[in-house]
Amino acid sequence: DTLVNQIAAGEVVERPASVVKELVENALDAGATRVDIDLEEGGIRLIRIRDDGGGIPADELPLAISRHATSKIASLDDLEEVATLGFRGEALPSIASVSRFALSSRTAAQEHGVRLEVDGGKVAPLQPHPHPAGTTVEVRDLFFNVPARRKFLRAERTELGHIEEWLRSLALARPEVELRISHNGRLSRHYKPVRDGAERARRVAEALGEEFTSQCLAIEHAGAGLRLHGWVGLPTAARSSADQQYFYVNGRAVRDRTVAHAVRQAYADVLFHGRYPAFVLFLECDPRQVDVNVHPAKHEVRFREQRLVHEFIYRTLHEALASTRA
Ligand code: ADP
Ligand code: MG
Repeated sequence: DTLVNQIAAGEVVERPASVVKELVENALDAGATRVDIDLEEGGIRLIRIRDDGGGIPADELPLAISRHATSKIASLDDLEEVATLGFRGEALPSIASVSRFALSSRTAAQEHGVRLEVDGGKVAPLQPHPHPAGTTVEVRDLFFNVPARRKFLRAERTELGHIEEWLRSLALARPEVELRISHNGRLSRHYKPVRDGAERARRVAEALGEEFTSQCLAIEHAGAGLRLHGWVGLPTAARSSADQQYFYVNGRAVRDRTVAHAVRQAYADVLFHGRYPAFVLFLECDPRQVDVNVHPAKHEVRFREQRLVHEFIYRTLHEALASTRA
């Protein structure tokens, strides 16, 4: 069913950045504390993701690349409260059907690692393969067998930019995870792990630069079953661009009109003259108050009580921003 997987890949795999997203999310779901991301030619030639997570038992490797085989959900009821990032069991088979793919892994309990290679959907026999505890996924020559898709890939720089942007957003949300990114053999980014609390600002500075952290305000406010925390650029901050806007709901990056409007309104009402306020904000709420599965790839959410959320964000930010003007 290579064809079925290739069709599914049309949804899951748009470009190298979507591969990186799926693979890094799998690593995090497996409890990784460190993820190494090696890229060549913007990820088009190679994406290699190595993690120190729980690994995949040897007898389950073939399952990991078969369709709808997820280890993360046992019943439909679980769908209500998925804590893991993936749960559809589509990513690996889809990616493996449109690339030269290899999955190597070892659990702590296993003495030897194993490796499974898949070439454009054709699965080779399992081989023994030395590997530290954890998992490595290699994706070479993305879309080599689907010329119509390959044609739509952009320049190396552009594809790399998409990957780095997604990793930046992740780095902000998961400061406790160490991320090392290399491109064409050179270390391009190293997000060192930070413990929660005051140290978190260091990760923000690593991701967005001192320009942002030297001109921002820390936010921390809870009430009405909601908590908003993070950093917002001062209304007087010199630089402002649309690419420094990060909003997370229960740890997931989202784009939401209610949220965007509340933030914009708070800035406008303290007489912010820039075009785009910069912010990194985390909203925590009861998972039942928010539907994140509207479309996992599109970062959409649906709040049960939109007006309450709007009001909460607006008031919290307005109060904080206005205090800087006093
Ligand atoms: P999903 O994440 O939706 O379950 P995937 O196709 O992304 O589906 O992965 C299939 C399965 O392979 C996962 O459910 C998991 O059991 C296993 N897996 C994939 N990547 C890793 C990893 N890095 N570490 C451990 N297990 C993994
Ligand atoms: Mg997954």
